[in-house]
Amino acid sequence: MGAAEFGGESPVIIAGPCAIESEDMLLEIAVSVKASGAGMLRGGAWKPRTSPHSFQGLGSEAMVMLKSVGEEAGLPVVSEVLAVSQLEWALEYLDMVQVGARNMHNFPLLTEIGRCGAPVLLKRGFMATVEEWLLAAEYVMKEGNEKIVLCERGIRTFEPWTRATLDISSVPLARQSSSLPVVVDPCHAAGRRDLVMPLSMASLGAGADGLMIEVHPHPERALSDGGQSLNLGDFAALAAAVRHYGWPPERYR
Ligand code: PEP
Ligand code: MN
Repeated sequence: MGAAEFGGESPVIIAGPCAIESEDMLLEIAVSVKASGAGMLRGGAWKPRTSPHSFQGLGSEAMVMLKSVGEEAGLPVVSEVLAVSQLEWALEYLDMVQVGARNMHNFPLLTEIGRCGAPVLLKRGFMATVEEWLLAAEYVMKEGNEKIVLCERGIRTFEPWTRATLDISSVPLARQSSSLPVVVDPCHAAGRRDLVMPLSMASLGAGADGLMIEVHPHPERALSDGGQSLNLGDFAALAAAVRHYGWPPERYR
């Protein structure tokens, strides 16, 4: 399946759909993003949707698809787990577990992830300070698990033209204040695909160890977050730009 190295020689791009909609669609995305240079495949199975009436994800069925598509495409996989009760089962299918923004303060979940030692992608809560985010990581570390990648995904501000406000300063701050890799999810920060390229470049400029990008073959038909998802061609262009520009000479740690 291959391994992703965060904090290594080049930025890691995690790419995939907001929600897994079918195995065929996931495979199409996985093969394409891998060819473009993605190092890891994402895909939501249990979706923490703001409205209970929105598509909630295909659940455990999607986790099974994610594992088999990841193996077929040669990409390690990450997906969100919403509750402690899902963790043990899901870890049979995942290389990395995602703790979402709405769950950053779920201390029992963080503690259990710490105990089981699984690699974790820890998103910043949209109402959390940088210090609270780092303290959430410490809940995992306290149990002896240091396999943590922090993910900045924007915070809630008074600005209505974007879904959240990408707090770019949190990237060098978190990198200076901890030894953990920090990736940025510009899609959930912006909520609109036209900002994904500039925010990605800004993130790498600020020293981010990688990016998490939502990708869909037909974003206009996506069951969730289509407006902020890149199509396969736009993702290839983004990955090429990341390869071309890479990191600035000084990475603030
Ligand atoms: C996601 O990555 O699919 C997601 C729900 O993100 P967040 O927790 O940052 O809203
Ligand atoms: Mn999403």
